Amino acid sequence: MSRRAVVIGGGLAGMLAAAVLSAAGVDEVVVVDRDELPEGPEHRKGLPQGRHAHLLMAGGMHAMEELLPGAGLRERLLAAGAHEISLSSGMLARTPEGWLRRWRREGPAMVTCSRALLDWVVRSAVREQAPVRIRKAAVVGLTGSAERVRGVRIAAPGGDAGLDADLVVDASGRGSRVVSWLDGLGLSGVRERAVDSGLVNASRMYRVPAGAERFPLTIVQADPYVSRPARSAMVMPIEGGRWLVSCGGSRGGEPPADPEGFLRYTLDLPDPIVGRLISGAEPLTDVHLSRSTSNVRRYLEKLPHWPEGFVVLGDALATFNPAYGHGMSVAAFGARVLDRELNRAGALTAPGLARRVLRGAARSADPAWSMAVGQDVLYPGARGGRPTAADRVVTAYTRRMMKAATGSYAAASAIWDVTSLRTPPTRMFHPGAVLAALVGSPLPPSTEPPLTPGEREVLRGLDRTGV
Ligand SMILES: Cc1cc2nc3c(=O)[nH]c(=O)nc-3n(C[C@H](O)[C@H](O)[C@H](O)COP(=O)(O)OP(=O)(O)OC[C@H]3O[C@@H](n4cnc5c(N)ncnc54)[C@H](O)[C@@H]3O)c2cc1C
Repeated sequence: MSRRAVVIGGGLAGMLAAAVLSAAGVDEVVVVDRDELPEGPEHRKGLPQGRHAHLLMAGGMHAMEELLPGAGLRERLLAAGAHEISLSSGMLARTPEGWLRRWRREGPAMVTCSRALLDWVVRSAVREQAPVRIRKAAVVGLTGSAERVRGVRIAAPGGDAGLDADLVVDASGRGSRVVSWLDGLGLSGVRERAVDSGLVNASRMYRVPAGAERFPLTIVQADPYVSRPARSAMVMPIEGGRWLVSCGGSRGGEPPADPEGFLRYTLDLPDPIVGRLISGAEPLTDVHLSRSTSNVRRYLEKLPHWPEGFVVLGDALATFNPAYGHGMSVAAFGARVLDRELNRAGALTAPGLARRVLRGAARSADPAWSMAVGQDVLYPGARGGRPTAADRVVTAYTRRMMKAATGSYAAASAIWDVTSLRTPPTRMFHPGAVLAALVGSPLPPSTEPPLTPGEREVLRGLDRTGV
């Protein structure tokens, strides 16, 4: 397979797509990013969300490893200080139904590190395996016609310049201008849907206090069932002996950006554990806010006509409320669809290739979309949707399953498999899971976090709140 492909955006979706294109034998793969992509794990302007906690779910990790075979992504991340957190044993999670128990049996694991580290490790692995060219420039439009995209327009000092390509991949993220770019080619009428709970994310980095190095990831989840704004907080261990602490609150329950307010917010949650943990910890950054949290779906795949030579992946196609931790995994799923369809088609210019990729990528975003939207519409003041009768049935079942999960491994593992994007949501209706939901938890709900004696001691030692 010869020819040139241009990828707009060198974030996760873009770099994974570049790896796929190169592995498929495309001669020249050019990734265009408006940022200078750093040579190390550094935060950058084009990725403002990088200041916030990013959980990499098991489904996403698996997809990335498939896309970069032999790169040892997971091992590299762990060697660089990332943490692998077993959902069944390595996490303290307070759900709306009570604390989840910790089990000796292994469940799926997620990887936690800074977004800068994850992107750098993926970017390095891609560049080692594939002769990808990275160019610093901002793409401002597409060239070609409604029949076939033939390249991109790049902003240049003396006027825009063209860069021809046989395939263009838009991986420019949540802020993609794809709808107006298509409009410029005469393709209008893209249906978009935004469901916005008004979530604000507030994050701050801390040095892990001495003695707390092995303290588990701790999360106090939001409660969607009480007609009150979402409020949650999480302490997530990352590389470099740091905790990334993120609070999230939907419209009416937004966390503040001032340090005292941030701490107070964590202490006012149904369980003050996050505040107790950080009350004496040394902050390493200010509190950073993000309001880029609405669920946005661009139904590009539903346009009656789609140009050859153009695909859209990652957040440019679908973005999710980050509270569910799914965006990066879905970006990897989209790149996996590109891989599959390229291998099937055998040529970059095969008729219908772009449309098949788009449809497949959109389908791979469906489970994450349904989970995020189905829950977000329950919060007061959510815009863009109201719970349907079907939503209410699913919510009632999910709630029952969550209640059971506080004391039943069968129920908990069904939830972990689905929320890790390891299995489709139908996993919740496997006989064992249904039985667990019907029977309920064999153990009484736990109102206290399931700490080991050592962890209880650590918590007591860190607590400066007197709670
Ligand atoms: C606060 C917050 C927390 C999140 N937490 C999680 C989490 O826990 N787990 C998870 O899986 N996901 C999380 N996400 C979502 C995750 O950040 C995105 O899903 C992911 O970054 C999508 O990857 P992408 O490659 O599509 O886009 P991005 O990573 O945003 O990359 C887009 C790239 O395109 C470049 N670019 C943009 N426009 C242009 C242009 N015109 N020309 C050239 N280059 C351009 C940018 O510089 C950037 O490099 C979170 C998001 C937010 C906002």
